[in-house]
Amino acid sequence: MKTRFLKADVAGMKAAAQALRRGQLVAFPTETVYGLGARALDAKAVKKIYRAKGRPSDNPLIVHVNGSAMMETVAHPTSLARKLIAAFWPGPLTLILKSSGLVPDVVTGGQETIAVRCPAHPFFQTLIDFLGEPIAAPSANLSGRPSPTTAAHVYADLDGRIALILDGGPCNEGLESTIIDARGRYPVLLRPGSLTVEDIARAAGVKVLNPGANSPASPGTRYRHYAPDCRVELVSPRRVREGIEALKFPKTGLIHRSPSGAPLPGFSRKIPGGLDVYARSLFASLREAESFGVKTLYVETVPKRGVGRAVMDRLQRAAGLSHPAQ
Ligand code: AMP
Ligand code: MG
Repeated sequence: MKTRFLKADVAGMKAAAQALRRGQLVAFPTETVYGLGARALDAKAVKKIYRAKGRPSDNPLIVHVNGSAMMETVAHPTSLARKLIAAFWPGPLTLILKSSGLVPDVVTGGQETIAVRCPAHPFFQTLIDFLGEPIAAPSANLSGRPSPTTAAHVYADLDGRIALILDGGPCNEGLESTIIDARGRYPVLLRPGSLTVEDIARAAGVKVLNPGANSPASPGTRYRHYAPDCRVELVSPRRVREGIEALKFPKTGLIHRSPSGAPLPGFSRKIPGGLDVYARSLFASLREAESFGVKTLYVETVPKRGVGRAVMDRLQRAAGLSHPAQ
C-alpha cells in the first residue's frame, strides 16, 4: 500500500475524513501521542488497526468522542464519570465505562466495558466533528515500540501499512492518556498517564484506588511495551552524578537530567527542565538512541510523583521489568 503524507491542515482534514469513510486507516496528531484511527463503528476497518500494528486482538482500543453527547451513544456514564469529564475533558483522560453495545466487539475485545476519551487536539477534535462519529485510535506505532510523538516516528513504523499520515508537528504531552475505571464510587487507576493521579483525586473528592485482585486490569498493560531496539537499563540520579563506568564502552548511550560524573558516550541527551519536559521528550529520545546504533541505553529514573509516575511506568516497561500498573 502506498502511504500518503500530508500536513494536518484543511486539505489534510478532508483527505482524512474521506479515507476514514472508505474504511481506511489514518494516523494523526493528538495532544498525547500520534494516533492511528478508524471509524469505531466499522468492524472491518477496526480489524485493520490490529493488523497494521501487529497488536494482539485481546488488547482493546480507546474510542474517541467530541463530547458528552457522543460519549452517551457508546457508554453509560456514572456520576463519578460526569465529575471527571467536567474537570478534564477535552484532555488526556480515558474513562472505562459500561458499553452501550453500539461499538462492535472488535473495538472492546468483546468486553462489557468501553474505553472513551475526548481529545483536546484541535485537528483531532475537528476530524471527529467532521466525521460525526467516534474514532477508535490506539497509538500509531508497531505494537511494542515506543509511542510516536512526531509524524516521522509514525512513518518509520507504519509506512506502507496505512493509507495516510498527517503531520501536525510534535505532540504536546508526549505520553499516553491516563486510564481510569470510573464505573464505581472511587476512580481506579488502570494506566498512569499525562494527567496526574493527584489532579484526579482532587477533582473526584475521593482517593484514587489501585486495581484490586477483582478489578480487571487494563489488558494492554500485560504486554512488553514502549521498547526501543536496544537494551534499556534504568539508573538512579545518584549513579548518573557519580559516573556510570560502563559508559566508556562503545555503543552505549545516556538519557539523563542530572549532571553526569563520567565522560559522556557517543549518544547522550540531557533533558533540561521539569518532569513534564522529560515526559514529553522520552519516547523521541528512546527512538533517537536506537537510530544512533546504541546497544545499551542508560536512562535516569525520576521520582514516582505527578507525571513521574507515568514516566516510570513507561521506563520500567521499556526496560522489560515487570511491575504493577501504578
Ligand atoms: P493505546 O491506545 O495503545 O494507548 O492502548 C489503549 C489502552 O486502553 C490499552 O492499555 C488497553 O488495554 C486499554 N483499554 C481499552 N479498552 C479497555 C477496556 N474496555 N477496559 C480496560 N482497558 C481498556
Ligand atoms: Mg499504544
